[in-house]
Amino acid sequence: MKQIVYIDMDGVIADFDRSIRELGLSEYDSADIIPGLFASLHPIEGAIESVNQLLADPKFEVYFLSAAPWDNPEAWMHKRLWISNHFNSKKVRKRLILSHQKQLMIGDYLIDDRAKNGASEFLGQWIHFGSTSFPDWGSVMTYLKQS
Ligand SMILES: [Mg+2]
Repeated sequence: MKQIVYIDMDGVIADFDRSIRELGLSEYDSADIIPGLFASLHPIEGAIESVNQLLADPKFEVYFLSAAPWDNPEAWMHKRLWISNHFNSKKVRKRLILSHQKQLMIGDYLIDDRAKNGASEFLGQWIHFGSTSFPDWGSVMTYLKQS
């Protein structure tokens, strides 16, 4: 049976913090309601190559699982566009789940940089991206290949 891998977006594949810095803002400026911000985020180093490897690996079934700002409905659309702009749009078609209740998803792994929105209560394994165990995509891929 395939192993289901959920991948968070901000802080895991899309570099929200870098765009905030480039705009000269802090996270306290309600940056997540800036129009168009979520469409323009740079990818995190190694993310595109790694996700493409996972998508091509018959061992895994990959979904993107992200929480979009509730008060910025445009961000929901931009996350959908970001996914098809950065990956082969056929391979990622209908593989985006937007939810603030990540713990309700059934699966084996959730790669997420924060405990919020149910990530720390996920019933599979939470791969805490950016932690000392999983500082970057290299460490995540090494781990998943051994799983
Ligand atoms: Mg995140």
